[in-house]
Amino acid sequence: METAGAKVTANSLEEHWMPFTQNRDFKNNPRLVVKSEGMYLWDHKGGKVVDGSSSLFNVACGHGRKEIAEAVYAQLQQNDYAAPFQMGHPGGFALAKEVTKLTPKGIGHVFFTNSGSESIDTAIKMVYAYHAARGDHKRHRFVSRERAYHGVNIGGVSLSGMVRNREAFPGVMPYVSLMRHTHIPENKFARGQGEHGGMELANDLERIALTYGPGTIAACFVEPVAGSTGCLVPPKGYLERLREICDKYGILLVFDEVITGFGRLGTPFAGQAFGVTPDIMTMAKALTNGAQPMGAVAVKDEIYDTVVEKAPEGMIEFFHGYTYSAHPAACAAGLATMEIFKKDKLFEKAAKLSPYFLDKVWELKSLDAVTDIRGMGLMAAVDLKPGKVPGARGNELQKRMFWNGLHIKWTGDTAILAPPFVAEKAHIDEIIEKFRATIVAFKD
Ligand code: PLP
Repeated sequence: METAGAKVTANSLEEHWMPFTQNRDFKNNPRLVVKSEGMYLWDHKGGKVVDGSSSLFNVACGHGRKEIAEAVYAQLQQNDYAAPFQMGHPGGFALAKEVTKLTPKGIGHVFFTNSGSESIDTAIKMVYAYHAARGDHKRHRFVSRERAYHGVNIGGVSLSGMVRNREAFPGVMPYVSLMRHTHIPENKFARGQGEHGGMELANDLERIALTYGPGTIAACFVEPVAGSTGCLVPPKGYLERLREICDKYGILLVFDEVITGFGRLGTPFAGQAFGVTPDIMTMAKALTNGAQPMGAVAVKDEIYDTVVEKAPEGMIEFFHGYTYSAHPAACAAGLATMEIFKKDKLFEKAAKLSPYFLDKVWELKSLDAVTDIRGMGLMAAVDLKPGKVPGARGNELQKRMFWNGLHIKWTGDTAILAPPFVAEKAHIDEIIEKFRATIVAFKD
């Protein structure tokens, strides 16, 4: 088996306990990716697979970007590692500056992590730190939403609204209330934002605030478009109303932009697409185009100033950080990625390709198996009728699509399509044709 630079012989697949994978099934019939370039992956049998979900929504600039590989190589040769506590290296500062060129005005400080999950847990701690620094110790309750996905660490699981991710892990954080999700039948097949339910569903936040006492609510976490659960685009007025309620009661609004950040909706962040500015934003994935593990949390200047600038001199202001926060290689990858976004005008390209992409996805409505479609920007979800065991069809279809030359991320019986921004119309056609053909041929 080939990997770049070394020959790897995998005689046994047994030892590697794979994440979010049916290990036994996979090991009986593995799907190994041994090469990737542009819009394509190559499997270990030599098959060519078009990447219909930017792998895990992260490879926005397409695979195998030489600029990123070269920047990481050069960085590792010059300075492979710098401890991030009480010292630093230029890359961390340079990348924070570049990220703040994309965040909304007033969100000017960035803390680096290694993943989306770590970004969420970092954001939770920032919320605590901010309220504590203001002497407001009563705010301890967090509000999230049914069907939310905020990663897999204990904080993120506590905010999660996806049953499978929660039920096996009872020891999560207390004091979390969930609003209703926004997937309502009135908005079935709505393209972009649905017309119905925005105000009413957002008012759940106010009901929770008035139930527990507005002064006890620390923050409200939402994905602006709920991604992993299947692209739930917020109905019109929903995010605006959440912002209003947060302002009214002094609640911090956190947008989890791990999927939507860096151009997925054709704007740098989803907040800008919806015209709503949060107080804190989490990000990861496309920050390095998936080439290095990295996440980040960007905060309003007022939050940084309250926690950092107003703290007593002579001590660390925020007791949090990772050995690999702002790792030099990840920063190099991030800087190279930001440069590609600019140079190749990829956010504009995503915005331009979106109508064609959505047209093609909506053509799938004609399939009997399809029960709903949602989408915005370069992100869409297709729900299929579940079989006897919910999720079993999705699992089977994901495998069949792979062997038919298409990679799609599935959650249960929902397919989530999110092509890289470098896709051409012909790639979109290829993705949709393979998707359709696999479903038409499928009999369970
Ligand atoms: N938050 C959101 C909205 C996500 O979609 C994800 C991952 O898909 C995460 C957090 C967790 O990110 P990671 O898998 O990098 O820990």
